[in-house]
Amino acid sequence: MKKFLLAASFAIISASGYSQVKVNSCGTDQHHQNLVSEHPELLEAKKKFDADFKEYIKTYKPSDKNSLKKASAPKYIIPVVVHVLHNYGSENISDAQIQSEINFLNQSFRNLVSDSTNRRQDTFNGVFYSYKQLAADAEVEFRLARKDPKGNCTNGIVRVQTPLTNKGNDDLKQLSVWDTKRYFNIWVVRGINRGNTVGIAGYAQFPMGFNNGASTDGIIVIHNEFGNIGTSNPGQTPKVTTSTHEAGHWLGLYHPFQTQGETCGLDGDEVLDTPPTIFSATSNEPLRNKCADKRYNTCTNEIPDLPDMQENYMDYFIGNCASNMFTKQQVVRMHYVLDNYRRTLWQEDNLISTGVKDNSTATCSPIASFSTTTRITCAGNKISFTDNSYNSNITAWKWSFPGGTPATATTKAPGQIQYDNPGTYEVTLEVTGPNGTSSVTYKDYVVIQPAAANNPSGYYTADWWYQNNWYDKGWVFEYENDKNKWVRTAATSFNQNACMMYPKDPFNLSSSVGALTSLISPSYNFQGVSNGYFSFNYAFAQGTLSADIGGGATKEELRVYTSVDCGKTWISRAAIGSSTISTIGTGTAAQLASNINFVPANQSKWKEVKVEGSSIPNNSNVKFKIEFKYAGGNNFYLDNVKLGTVTGIEDELAKQIKFSVQPNPFNYETTISYELNKNEDVEIRLFDIAGKELGVLFSGDQAAGIQEFQISKSQFNLQSGLYFVNMNIGGQKFSKKIVVE
Ligand SMILES: [Zn+2]
Repeated sequence: MKKFLLAASFAIISASGYSQVKVNSCGTDQHHQNLVSEHPELLEAKKKFDADFKEYIKTYKPSDKNSLKKASAPKYIIPVVVHVLHNYGSENISDAQIQSEINFLNQSFRNLVSDSTNRRQDTFNGVFYSYKQLAADAEVEFRLARKDPKGNCTNGIVRVQTPLTNKGNDDLKQLSVWDTKRYFNIWVVRGINRGNTVGIAGYAQFPMGFNNGASTDGIIVIHNEFGNIGTSNPGQTPKVTTSTHEAGHWLGLYHPFQTQGETCGLDGDEVLDTPPTIFSATSNEPLRNKCADKRYNTCTNEIPDLPDMQENYMDYFIGNCASNMFTKQQVVRMHYVLDNYRRTLWQEDNLISTGVKDNSTATCSPIASFSTTTRITCAGNKISFTDNSYNSNITAWKWSFPGGTPATATTKAPGQIQYDNPGTYEVTLEVTGPNGTSSVTYKDYVVIQPAAANNPSGYYTADWWYQNNWYDKGWVFEYENDKNKWVRTAATSFNQNACMMYPKDPFNLSSSVGALTSLISPSYNFQGVSNGYFSFNYAFAQGTLSADIGGGATKEELRVYTSVDCGKTWISRAAIGSSTISTIGTGTAAQLASNINFVPANQSKWKEVKVEGSSIPNNSNVKFKIEFKYAGGNNFYLDNVKLGTVTGIEDELAKQIKFSVQPNPFNYETTISYELNKNEDVEIRLFDIAGKELGVLFSGDQAAGIQEFQISKSQFNLQSGLYFVNMNIGGQKFSKKIVVE
């Protein structure tokens, strides 16, 4: 499965035994397991599918399939819809990047890839073999739909904004899905978070089950492994084959190492012309780079014995030699699926109703869309906007910026718009193409903070990483060099199951050694506050190679700054230098070799940084900045950013039972937890600010130990505002504020 993210560019490192932080592999098997746990009947469906195919393949004759592309039209034309689920970030990839993936899918499925010269034909243990001659044309062509399910003109691309673009799960697909019996649905997202140390580049749903019409059916791929331009390995050879691999699964193909538990099973993938192979992906070896070894051979039990087929799209091999063909029997299996499970897709009436029959390129009406990198700033600052309109060529733009200067623009790039007065402003864009006009208005899109910030100065904490909404809150990451970026990870956290990670770059391949990266807060009001604080937790291991990379001169630094002029000038409030920055020890214990992926195992591997008292300016407009200078060490993790006033005397009972509400304020859901040291009669009720009871969370006997309850916005239909959780424990009562944002 070559060309999963970063794989090709790290070939040399892999060969010398180092693994890269974020190599992504395929999540199809895991996804299937998850589906089976919810739908046990799928197990039977899969068994039947495999058994039926076993019968069917008996009728297969090698002469039935050509290894070369046929001159004739493809046997199967598949209408495709690509759903881009984005949050205005780089994952909102261009139409051209999407088309580059469709083009590559067609090259790979029609056996037209340029790297086919790498297919081996040789002797092995004295026996001639030819993978070249096994390569086959799948006779499948993918075409972006020209008509949507309602019959409207479309370019086959749907763009949906969502803050959950990093989740990449089945729920997310429900934001946008077209009839899976009529369209091959492809979802493109920013990330696929499954809590693994091995990242997921994409996953597919197998064809069996759900009466062939599940709303989750299709493939989902991260944007930087989709296509071969833009954000996805631009210009790199070999090309990204992630979607080809996933489309193979979607058409019923398994990994060639599928039955590794059975030790080199001859037909683990249910086809007989892929030699048996064993592989189990780990975080140290998520993919195999064996191009230097043409005789690489994990299984010797087949007759004749053949080397592992690194060329196969469905395996996990990377490098120039790998991932460039389907075999003849894999094609037979895909055709079996198309004829029996996915028949509705390629029938002529469906090709007509989805508009792909004549492969026309009729122009549709445009759909207006735009974004900006900075929605929140202070009065007097400027914001620039980016046109993201789609579905047509655009010939004219009409921007409207109420409250901004200039207030209108008529070019694709409207330049910098200055906002002088605090407030929340809408922005409108109207675009015109050859076939029509479209307009979109984003209400409350630009937030201009006043010279005096109006955030409440009371206790304020939120785990933005957990909620995945730091950008909505006005928190911004900045980079001197943005080739290495912060990523949200659920692989570890100080609390709340997710945190931010600045990935290691020990060989300076992203030129991040010596570069600064910062997290900048929105403005907060600390006027008249004497007991303010700002704190966070971090985890970091220094690298053994740091001195070599940085020439000994570059040292890590972690600093905290404050600003009272909207970030024009900053004052340093805390500095942690190279000798004390490690959270795993001092001296050599502070260092970790670059081939080890540092993941803090528990809270003891984290440190807290806190500035308080006179370090917090007595000002109505305070911004904070956490700045990290990277020097070639291991991963840096950041979590639990908090600020506010040091809390006063808490209710004695609340303290006793370690009562907590995290996060608070909250957006979607918050967790109440406490610990009883003996069995108690407990009542928990939720009230609004007017004293009206909204519901009972719990009422009855509760055993000693830690107790947890979730309050979700949807469960009680909560609007933004203040609410109270009233606790009654054995007749003793207290009340706690919670805030819904
Ligand atoms: Zn796979």
